[in-house]
This record gives sequence, C-alpha cells and structure tokens, in this order.
Amino acid sequence: MIRFDLDAREATLSARDLIRFDASKALRPEPALGLRARAGTRVHGKRRAEAEAARGDSYRAERSVEYRVERRGWRATVQGRIDGLYREDGAWVVEEVKSVVLDPSRFAPEDLARAVIQEGAFADHRLQLEMYILFLADALVREGPADAGPPRVTGRLVLVNLGGGADPGGDGERAAADPGSREAAIDISPDLDAVRSWVHGRIDLVLDRAEAEEASRSARREAAARIAFPFPSLRPHQGDLAELVRATLEAGENLLASAPTGVGKTAAVLREALRFALERGLRIFWATSRTTGARIVVETLERIAAASGWNGLGGGPPPFRAVVLRAREKVCPRAARGEPVFCHEAFCPWAESYAEKVEGGKLVDRLLAGPVATPEAAVALGAESGACPYELLLDASLGADVSIGDYNYVFDPRSYLRPLFDERLARDAVLVVDEAHNLPARGRASYSPAVERRDGARLDRWAREREDEGVRSWCRRLEGLLAAASEHGREELGDPPVYPVDIDPAIVRSLTEDLDALRTRRLLGGSRGTGSPGGADPLEEFASRWGSFAAAFDAREAMASLVLYDKSGAAGHRLRVLCFDPSGPVGKRIAAFRSSILFSATLEPLEFHRDVIGLPPARTRLASFPSPFPEENRKILVWDRISTYFRSRGRDAAEVARLIEEIASVEPGNYLACFSSYAYLREVQEHMSPWMREAAVVQTPGMTEEARDLVLGKLREHAGGRGPPRTVLAVQGGIFTEGVDYPGKMLVGVIVVGPGLPAVTFDEERVREHFEDRFDQGFEYAYLYPGMSRAVQCAGRAIRSETDIAAIVLLGERFARSQYARLFPQHWYRRSPKELVSKDLVTDLREFWAGVHARADRRDG
Ligand code: SF4
Repeated sequence: MIRFDLDAREATLSARDLIRFDASKALRPEPALGLRARAGTRVHGKRRAEAEAARGDSYRAERSVEYRVERRGWRATVQGRIDGLYREDGAWVVEEVKSVVLDPSRFAPEDLARAVIQEGAFADHRLQLEMYILFLADALVREGPADAGPPRVTGRLVLVNLGGGADPGGDGERAAADPGSREAAIDISPDLDAVRSWVHGRIDLVLDRAEAEEASRSARREAAARIAFPFPSLRPHQGDLAELVRATLEAGENLLASAPTGVGKTAAVLREALRFALERGLRIFWATSRTTGARIVVETLERIAAASGWNGLGGGPPPFRAVVLRAREKVCPRAARGEPVFCHEAFCPWAESYAEKVEGGKLVDRLLAGPVATPEAAVALGAESGACPYELLLDASLGADVSIGDYNYVFDPRSYLRPLFDERLARDAVLVVDEAHNLPARGRASYSPAVERRDGARLDRWAREREDEGVRSWCRRLEGLLAAASEHGREELGDPPVYPVDIDPAIVRSLTEDLDALRTRRLLGGSRGTGSPGGADPLEEFASRWGSFAAAFDAREAMASLVLYDKSGAAGHRLRVLCFDPSGPVGKRIAAFRSSILFSATLEPLEFHRDVIGLPPARTRLASFPSPFPEENRKILVWDRISTYFRSRGRDAAEVARLIEEIASVEPGNYLACFSSYAYLREVQEHMSPWMREAAVVQTPGMTEEARDLVLGKLREHAGGRGPPRTVLAVQGGIFTEGVDYPGKMLVGVIVVGPGLPAVTFDEERVREHFEDRFDQGFEYAYLYPGMSRAVQCAGRAIRSETDIAAIVLLGERFARSQYARLFPQHWYRRSPKELVSKDLVTDLREFWAGVHARADRRDG
C-alpha cells in the first residue's frame, strides 16, 4: 500500500506497489478462492524448511531490504522482503519463490526459463527479484568496508506450480499422488544500472500520483465548502443531531444515536459526514442492512448534489462521488444466466483481460462521472464493455468519497471487503451504520454458520455421478468428522439434541485447504462449472457454506462462542458455530475506522446496544432525540387486561382476536397487527370473525419483498379511496415491521400483540448465561432488550411524517410492568409510562379519533 505524507513530502511503498500501482486492480478473489494465498503460504513454508535443512546457517529467510532516493523534492522509500538469501560459489543469491497455476503439461522448467528470460513471462515476478538484487547490492556496498569491490549478487526465481490437483505445500502422500515436475529454478543476473533507472522512472510516476492526490485534496476541500443541506429548512432536532455528528467526527470518536422517524437522520448525518470527509480527504462507508436503506441514501445524495450546485453531466465534475455496492451474485452476468460464479480469468469471460478493458474504456472514470454510481450503471457498462460489473463497482468505490453497501462488507468474516478496508484505508475512513439496532443480530448470524450433514451427502452423490474420487474422498473425511461428533453425543452425553463438541482446528484447516485444492484443480481442468441453467454449481455452493463455517470457526476464540453438534430441527444433523456475543469481532472492525456514527429510530437502551456492538464506553457518545411530530397525531395505549405469555396464549387467543377487531372497528382504515411468532399469529387468526378474516392479509414464513410490496399496494389502494380496508397480520422483526414505511393513510393503527421476546432455546439460554456472567443481566440482554426493541419498531411504523395520524395499541400485561415499560421511548409519555395504560380501550380510541376529526373539520372550515 502506497503511503503519502503530503506535508512531509514523503512516499513509502513496497516493491510490489512500484510494479503494479498503475495497473487496474487485479480481480479480487472470490471469497473462498483465497486458495492461492493459502497455498502460496504453504509453498513458502515448505521451501524455507527445505532450504534451511540443506544450507544450514548460511540461509537467511525473509531478509528486509529498502531503497531510498530523493526525487523532485520528495523522499521515496521502496521496501521489500527477500524470501531467501544465501551464498553460492562466492556470490550472494537472492531467491524469490512464487506459486503459479499452470496446466502440468505446460510446466517444463527449460521452456519456462526461456519464457521468463527472453519472452517476458512472469514479468512482475522477475522485476521484483531484480529490484531486490539491486537493493541488496546497494545495502552491501553501504554496509561493507570502503575498499571492498562491488559485491557479487545474483538472483534465482523459483516457480512452484499449484496446478495439477495435489498440493505441493501439503503432505508427501498427496504430492506423490500427482507425478510430474512442480518446480522450476531460473537464474537471473540483471543489469543493475538498467534496473535502477527503471526504478527511478516508476518512482516519478508514483510521485505524479502524489501530486495529483494533492490537487484532488484541495479540490475536495473546496467542494466541502459547497456541500449544502438538501432541504429548504431543518426539522426539529435535526440541527442538534448534525452538530453532534460533527463534534464526534472531530474528536475521532463513535456516536450511537437513537432518533425517531421524522428527525431527518439520513440527511443530517450524510451532509455532516460528507463535509467532514471532503475537508480532510477521508472516505465514508455507509453500511445498510437493507436495500431500501441504500435507496434512501442515494436519493439524499442526489438531493445534496443538486443543492450544492451540480446540475448534470455537462456542468462540471460533481462535488463528490458515491458508489452503491451490491452483492456479487446480484450483478454478475454469469449468475444472471444461471451459470456458476467463478471469478477467475481462466474461467470467466468478464474477468478475462479485465485490466485492459478498464484502462482502454476508462470504465471507472465513466462510472464515476456523476455523483452516484449505481449497480445498474455498472451492469450496463459491463454489458457494453465485457468487464465484470462487480469488480467495476469495487474499483470505483476505491476512488469514491462515499461507498454504500450491506453490513456484510464490513462485518461478515467472509464477505468483508479487504481491498476497501485494509488497515490504512479504514483509518482514513468514517463508518456510518444505518438502522444500527439490526447490527447485533446480524453480527451474531454472520458468526454463527452451520454445515449440514445432508449437504455433505448431497455433494458426495454429485461427485459419485461425475466419478470425482477427489471430492468423494473429501466428503468421506467430512462425514467421518460429523459421525464422530454424533457418536460422542450418543455414547458419552446421553444423546442430547444439541451439545458442544471439541473439534481439532488442524482437521478444519486441512479440510479447508483440500477443498480449495479440489476447486483449483477443477478450475484448471478447464471445466466451466456444472451448474445447470438457473442452478448453482454444487461444489461451489458447498464450498461457500464450508467457507463460512471455517471462517467463523477460525474466529471462535476472539468471540464468545461454542462449536455445537446439533441434531434438532428440520435441517437434520449439523455442525455449527454459535456466537452468542459478537461484540469482539464487530467492535474490532468498527475500531479500525477513524470514527463511526451508528444510528436508528430505536436504540434504547443505548448502553445495551453499545455493549453488544462492542463500542468502547470511553470513546462512544450516546444520544437520544425526541420525536418531532405533533403529539395530538398519535394515541399510544397499553391494554394490560390480557396476557400474551406463551403459557396463556391458547386461553387468550380468542380475546386477542376480539380486541383486534374492536380496535379496527373504531376508525375505518388499514391496520397492522404484529405478533411474536407465526404460531401465535395463526392461533389468533383462527378466532377471527369472517369479516376480519376477509380483511386480513397474512404474512407467511419466507415471504419475499416482492410479495410484501403487493400487500403494500393494497394498503395504498385503500388509502387512495379505492379498495377495502385491510388488516395486516405480521410477525415482529419481519418484513412488514422493519425497514418499511406506511406513509399517509396507509395505516391508521398498529396493534402490538405482546413483546416479541426471543423464544427460549438452547442458543438463547447460552446468550442469557453469557450476559449474566458479563453484566449480571442475562434475561435483559438475551430476551428483554431484543424483544422490546422489536415491539417499539412495530409501534413506530404508523407515524412517519408530521401529517400521519394513527393509534398504537400495545396488548399484554407485560407492557404495563416497569421492567418493560421503562424501555418505551421517552417521547411516548410526559412523566411516566403508566400514563399510557388504558382503562377503557374503546372509549380512549373514540375520543382520540373524535379529536382528530374535529381538528380536521376546523381546518377545512
Ligand atoms: S462476471 Fe461474475 S463470475 Fe465473472 S468475475 Fe465477475 S462476478 Fe465473477
């Protein structure tokens, strides 16, 4: 990574940066194809061990070298590390070991030597070696006696072929299974004056870039002054939030802000963060949990660009550049055709000659021509140019001021975007997390993957059909591991449905490495995958799941977790990691950023969210804002004369059904009734009267966003005076209760049926025990806070603007108990949550609606 200190006029970079800094970014390996890196590490380790054994003390591994030069008023330092250094025939030999991937039939050492020396093959590897020879020769002159002659330094490039299936860095048995040459050693003796002049020429190009960065920094500073607020006026509390964001960023701290709908959080945070980032040459990563969240950010950015004087492509450069990232599978043209997603130039035409396509077509510049580059624009550009749209988005985001993408890009152990957030880049970036109440659950899910035994069996069947002995043997090893874990439970623990198991990390590592090797072999075999149109590749699909498991398994010691064998549930037997407190890894990712702003409409209690997200108390500001909307537009009532406890549901389901009907009959319109589970929803639905059943639209498990949008269309129809009123029966924490708005008359009421506390399961009990140990608040952290957070989210659906009017009824005696009621947002009541408890639900609702209609009549004259 090139580091510029523009004030001190210093540039520091690696030899590899010097070779490749102006090339387009090489394709980022598809997540599980970290195999090249892992196999390369093993190759180095093996080679080093052999060289140490053969050459004894004369062999020095990992020798650091450095080249310093002053040019154009800059001090440039190029750093490197020689793989192996030793004496041979009176000369120093600099050895570089590189893993390559070639068809074994094309791996002939003599031909390779000719190709490298005469035809420019593996030019990057050769250049790196030649630089190291120069750097070492200079160092020996500097460090040696003044009267010593020039040192004799020569080089040896060792190419180790990973192609052919067996793993050359692995054990002898596997290597022996694949005969043929694997290694070629090519001696190199460069002209050092020519190498020096090449190095200086390249450093000059790097300095051109530093100067361009200097110019861009001052252009950004100017742009920062122009960044305008995107609306004519500030909403109540919006200015306070913006000020707090500014102060937090200036202090380099974190902010956790709970601000109800209507405060205008996105505009306040975005404008302030953007100004701050442009002033200081920083980047922003805006993490969202849903695509709808990204859409709102894009709309706000477009408004900011327009308010800041940008009026289209003809009117000069935009004041900032933003890129919306999208999952690889959603923009990949191969995935769109139902083909396997293998991101390798040997395999995918969109990856082939990617760098040339990008350079030749100036594709990244074209994508960044306006203020916001969208995935749709990248897909269109990809179709026109034949370059991978996903890579285009990533390359564009490296040059953008704002990147917008899913939480996964920052927090998921496998989807984490290293090129965007390596240590230095993250230090120069601000992280914004939208809807941050979702982060603890998402973090937990990311670090809690499973591998199902039946998936292994399915892969084995697929391999049997193809007569792929390598994959079959791998499946047998996996099955052996799972069978042993199952037997352990049966023989020694009394066969419980879920229990912790102790898995040897070496087994998981070796399975991961061997699965990678199998995939490489397949890739080199020229197969373009075996997925049928519309279907994914079975090996790749499985490898993706295994990769998630292996990544979480690797991270298990850095978080509160267990490795479990689980025989319960419909998924059958599975091995899984259960993370019950993701604050370790999530907090670590956040800490890599210079500053972070996390916000949501419901983050109470703030201390709970701070702790489970892993934010350090000393560097985290907590803030809670009141609602800006008129109080008379809403009526919040608690009806405590009914129990919604699990044990009394059967008894009270009919009464809940009756209450919903009664509430909905006070004021005609659409209602949303939110339950703690599908089972409870169905139980109540059975007791509904025929007219209510007819009016009801029921959420079902696995319902898609498209199906949800059809339901929203029906609500909109009634709000627009067409179609009958509807009552949506939905579950708390689902697609009807989070990340969705019901503006205007789409809803006149929300009924929250009990707090949706998580069910008592093996997992939740481990969470409870953990937080009992950690904070003495096991029940609160495992059940109460997450459940009440969902209930408050539901209640917040109906009032989304200053003109929305709705009644919100919370059913269940728990809502009247202080343990629960103290978690209501403070802006719900004046002095005490007790004010919300109704003695006569229908009368209170009638009074509320009568007041609403009277005010409307007065207004309408
Ligand atoms: S087009 Fe698809 S398969 Fe090809 S490199 Fe891009 S994401 Fe990977």
